[in-house]
Amino acid sequence: MSKTAVGSDVEAYCTKCKMVLAHSIVAMQGTKPRRVRCNTCNGEHNFRATKPVPKVASKKAAAKTTKKTTTKKTRQSWEEVMQEAAAKPHKKYSMSGSFGEGDWIEHATFGLGCVQAFIAPNKITVRFADTTRLLVCNRS
Ligand SMILES: [Zn+2]
Repeated sequence: MSKTAVGSDVEAYCTKCKMVLAHSIVAMQGTKPRRVRCNTCNGEHNFRATKPVPKVASKKAAAKTTKKTTTKKTRQSWEEVMQEAAAKPHKKYSMSGSFGEGDWIEHATFGLGCVQAFIAPNKITVRFADTTRLLVCNRS
């Protein structure tokens, strides 16, 4: 007598217990179990040999979405700010110039930057595309 038959025990994944457990075969489809009853919770369900796979796919998709959103957010903000800044008036940087928080300056070497803070009496921190730098100002 074949081991796999209605009424015999088979290892299957239980959707209620969420693990592979001993089940009793309720119905067969060809040579394979079709429906099984969990010996642990007595729940009857379709036969699954192992844990369902689709969960991995959805997890992957979720991770992809999260990654996409995060990358976009950080990246775009600075790019957008730069784009906006290009359209705004900006001052040419010089050590004798006077700058305030929020001013856009154009530095001969570092390019376009945004003044983050004014440090009295004569220094400013400026954020450039790659890094933030401390520059001298108000020098007469
Ligand atoms: Zn169960």
